[in-house]
Amino acid sequence: MSYSRSFDSDVYMFLDRFQGVITCFICSLNKGDDISFSQRSDAIEHLKQHMAAGDIVGGRAIPLLEKEIQEIGDEVKKKE
Ligand SMILES: [Zn+2]
Repeated sequence: MSYSRSFDSDVYMFLDRFQGVITCFICSLNKGDDISFSQRSDAIEHLKQHMAAGDIVGGRAIPLLEKEIQEIGDEVKKKE
């Protein structure tokens, strides 16, 4: 599933259940390389960095991540 996709956003961030990480795909803040986070709070901070840099982040991305932290926890778990 994705948090922020290219059609409404400059950032494409998605959950990679097999790696147990949230990945920012072709990240403009990381010289075009993917960057991954194992904590949802780190992914939120990263999205805020994109917004501070003037990038458009999908409006539901941060609320969705915050909801998940409350419901299933900050740590991204691998699929079992
Ligand atoms: Zn990024």
